[in-house]
Amino acid sequence: MAARRRKNVHSVDTRSLHEAAALLRRGELVAFPTETVYGLGANALDAKAVAKIFEAKGRPQDNPVIVHVSDLRMLRKVADPPPPRARALIARFWPGPLTLLLSKKSSLPSSVTAGLDTVAVRMPQGLARDLIRLAGVPVAAPSANLSGRPSPTTALHVAEDFPDVFVLDGGPTKHGVESTVIALEPFPVVLRQGALSEESLRKTIPGLRHAASTGRLASGGGPFSSKVNGAAASPGTKYTHYAPTRPLTLFLRKSSLLAYVRAHPKALVLCPTPLAPLFPKQRTLALGSSPEEIARALFAALRTRRRGSELLVLAVPRRGLGRTIMDRLERAATRIV
Ligand code: AMP
Ligand code: MG
Repeated sequence: MAARRRKNVHSVDTRSLHEAAALLRRGELVAFPTETVYGLGANALDAKAVAKIFEAKGRPQDNPVIVHVSDLRMLRKVADPPPPRARALIARFWPGPLTLLLSKKSSLPSSVTAGLDTVAVRMPQGLARDLIRLAGVPVAAPSANLSGRPSPTTALHVAEDFPDVFVLDGGPTKHGVESTVIALEPFPVVLRQGALSEESLRKTIPGLRHAASTGRLASGGGPFSSKVNGAAASPGTKYTHYAPTRPLTLFLRKSSLLAYVRAHPKALVLCPTPLAPLFPKQRTLALGSSPEEIARALFAALRTRRRGSELLVLAVPRRGLGRTIMDRLERAATRIV
């Protein structure tokens, strides 16, 4: 891997951490690992710095970004005091892969929230939190990929998309999928499935509903649109996402995948490791056995350079993290059969 190391990728040590923190304070972009995926960060209180995120990613201006904080004092700079239900979730799940919609402070630049009066906030774990603490400013950070590409789970993925941005290399990320985004008003609802399953959230908020999310089945606004209660609740979910390196077909039934591979021997099957023996003559890319392993391997698989005329993948059960995996596969798929 060392030979492929890029000049903008820095392994983590005291010096690189301080350099990254100084860049953030100066209004520059820094890519860094979180426990979910790599983020492309900028000082959330600096409108010019935030504009650089949208510019670099080619991100539509109407898609708000998540603000990352290191502690509750920093939270007060970007959001009004959280209501009781939010406080319970914060106590249970922060730092962690849970993003909450809170009422926005007027001092936060409106570009961060795409003009909305809510701000999506989370407190990440580990290195990301250390970096934000060191920078001393809340950090706006969407995933560190060009808009429309799979989220990056390694520093190399980031460097592929952004050869000139300072990247902190903390190794492959722990969850491999983005945070779960939830709104609490007027009722608690999951806006985006993520690393934290609805089942675990429901233990803290039993009434949690889930947005009849992914778009393909939703009406209006094209094949990727997503609507909740008639309104685009989480703007980002309406955009094309996670475009793989080659066309990807998602099979809902094992029998149809088995029939398809017989006629398409050159296709590459992205496959849970225990199912690999079903495809003895086929190129396969093993994703792992548990939903956690599959989630961790998913985005790297969508960026694969391995040989294969097209990518094929089989649906996983929509339980726990499986719901998140299916959400990402449905958004990434060229077609679903
Ligand atoms: P990303 O930053 O790429 O991980 O995406 C963040 C997700 O959170 C996107 O789906 C955004 O549309 C969503 N989001 C961020 N801020 C808000 C907000 N204020 N209201 C609703 N959704 C939001
Ligand atoms: Mg993203």
